Amino acid sequence: SEVIVLIPDKPGELGRLFGEIGDIGVNIEDFQLEHSFGQSVGRAMVSVVPSQAGHLARSLEQRGWQVIIEGEEKQMGVVIALDGPSGSGKSTVSRRVATKLGLAYLDTGAMYRAAAWWCDHQGIDLDDQAAVAAATVQMPLQMPLDPENQTIECGGVDITQAIRASELSKVVSKVATNLEVRAELKRRQRQIIAAATQGIVAEGRDITTVVAPDADVRVLLTASEEARLARRALEVRGSADAAAIAATRDEVVRRDADDSTVSQFMTAQDGVTTVDSSSLSIDDVVDAVISLIPEDMR
Ligand code: C5P
Repeated sequence: SEVIVLIPDKPGELGRLFGEIGDIGVNIEDFQLEHSFGQSVGRAMVSVVPSQAGHLARSLEQRGWQVIIEGEEKQMGVVIALDGPSGSGKSTVSRRVATKLGLAYLDTGAMYRAAAWWCDHQGIDLDDQAAVAAATVQMPLQMPLDPENQTIECGGVDITQAIRASELSKVVSKVATNLEVRAELKRRQRQIIAAATQGIVAEGRDITTVVAPDADVRVLLTASEEARLARRALEVRGSADAAAIAATRDEVVRRDADDSTVSQFMTAQDGVTTVDSSSLSIDDVVDAVISLIPEDMR
């Protein structure tokens, strides 16, 4: 049986993995490594006798590693995919659902923001599609999965605040409409979702349609343009008066229009449930999402 461990691109991680497998006391029959230099995740394939695979995987997960057991049909935990435009409330709702149910949480928008930050940081012109795609493949991004702690690091730099800056929100669509960037981030997102055996809430623009179309729960969270503008203005500028709303318009309306050219997130696709949050409280939306989870998976 093969246990696959995802290795973050940090110095000494492979040595640490070996040490921990030793501590756990499982005999390795064979070990293979697939790791592209500079990439945030590599894969270590560890062969063990089948009866030890579960024990090794659980013990490594408790120590913070992301693990996949090869050949396992389906992951144990529920996968909840949530898409929606800016200001629909999807981040707040996703984090609350994850916290309430003890699930992992993946903010895919933060990955696109990180890619824009990384390319800019490397001095790359965001209009140079080939250079942006190449840099994204090399991006050393470590995604947090704890809904209560979303500190994001890229190449050892804490970018948690930087990726929320208004200047970055203005340019992120340039990176997100780059199809090679989308392919690379989709690959990483699928890997993270597959490794989250406790279950996961993943949110973005194309999770219900492209990244995880087979998720157990698929929700499109919508809200009227007025409600979305007011929420974003309050969040980013601390006020929802006319000036704040006017200043937020580019970040919401123009950005969603640009993003819509590559993903379909303004109307629900087949099998996706629409929840309109315009006049619902956050708690109501959270309850609505949780009520969609199949009975036997709650
Ligand atoms: O959700 P958030 O506003 O943080 O997303 C930032 C940007 O990332 C979006 O404007 C969009 O360009 C891009 N994005 C995407 N696909 C996703 C998530 C985000 O294209 N799944």
